[in-house]
Amino acid sequence: MSLAVPERLLLGPGPSPVSDRVRAAMAKPLLGHMDPAFLGIVDEVQARLREVFGTKNSLTFPVSGTGSAGMETSLVNFVNPGDDVIVVEQGVFGQRMADAARRLGARVHSIRVPFGEICSREQLEDTLDRVPNVRVVAVVKAETSTGVLQPLDDWAALVHGRGALLLVDTVTALGGLPVEVDRMGFDIAFAGTQKCLGAPPGLSPMTVGEAAWQRLAAREDPVPSWYLDLKAISQYLGGPRAYHHTAPVSMIYALYAALEAIHEEGLEQVWARHRLVAESLWAGLEAMGLQLLVPRTHRLPTVATVAIPAGVDDRRVRGRLLEEHGIEIAGGLGSWAGKAWRIGVMGEGARLEHMMRLLVALRATLAKEGVDRPSGLEALEETYRKGGQG
Ligand SMILES: *Cc1c(COP(=O)(O)O)cnc(C)c1O
Repeated sequence: MSLAVPERLLLGPGPSPVSDRVRAAMAKPLLGHMDPAFLGIVDEVQARLREVFGTKNSLTFPVSGTGSAGMETSLVNFVNPGDDVIVVEQGVFGQRMADAARRLGARVHSIRVPFGEICSREQLEDTLDRVPNVRVVAVVKAETSTGVLQPLDDWAALVHGRGALLLVDTVTALGGLPVEVDRMGFDIAFAGTQKCLGAPPGLSPMTVGEAAWQRLAAREDPVPSWYLDLKAISQYLGGPRAYHHTAPVSMIYALYAALEAIHEEGLEQVWARHRLVAESLWAGLEAMGLQLLVPRTHRLPTVATVAIPAGVDDRRVRGRLLEEHGIEIAGGLGSWAGKAWRIGVMGEGARLEHMMRLLVALRATLAKEGVDRPSGLEALEETYRKGGQG
């Protein structure tokens, strides 16, 4: 085979590294999408997704497509032309949801939050007061563009009190930190396989609660997307097992293996590993005199945003990390383009040895820019040994 693929350590904000076990699952022989043996695998994937989402929702499944397909599915099924929709925009992915909702003809009321900050409960309440007929409130729990973790305690009660549905982007959260759909009262949530779940890009796990399902069941006009029509897709997942579209069979195998690995390690242990490796990385970066852009109070464990030191060329450094060290990290997005690096601590990437390798490579690369920094390794390892920053 002439396909040439270099070795890389993927420490950007997705895709994250995939284990041999997951790759081996993808190489298994194909089954037909209507084969009872395959349908059994789909059932098991659904059951394991309920575990990671923390839900009993029967409509919990992987949408065929990347995380953005889960976003489109969430919007196209629950947002009608003319609907009032509140979207929290704390970064690029919130902006994207607002754009997608507008394209569906919704009246979008944005809550704009500066990069690096969170939306307060007061901001949400003020906006709910201004938009009495709101149908959907959409928010990103883990904003990958800024590295912010949006607290959503009490949001469901506020949103449900106005008769609206709470739609949550959990792409960079699911598998990396608690999502707890039922306990938090999320009505609709979607994610992606290539961030914290440890599978390649290509599926978007999604879950739909009873209130949302009732609203969809009552909808008489057909959903404007044929492919992402949840009522039609649900006929394949359960009941008559009717063909809708061909399931991406090998991707479902990959997700199966990734979810099985999470189950074996233990979901809470997996969250704790992400947290511990993230805190160790923060300590290492700080020991190198690098500044994290998001305050600890709402810093996301799964993506660290680091200020690029003065006099350092963003693209040259990332290019060197990739070419000379085989390590991928990402640049900033939106208003943080050129100002920040984004380091993913996700899935199989969330391991101490990977962060050690990154800090060594980053220090050497910064030195080539004429920026000499102390090693961050001791602080990294010590924090890891202590079990976190405390
Ligand atoms: C990556 C990401 C998406 C989009 O997922 P794709 O798989 O790139 O389509 C949406 N929201 C957030 C928060 C993300 O990090």
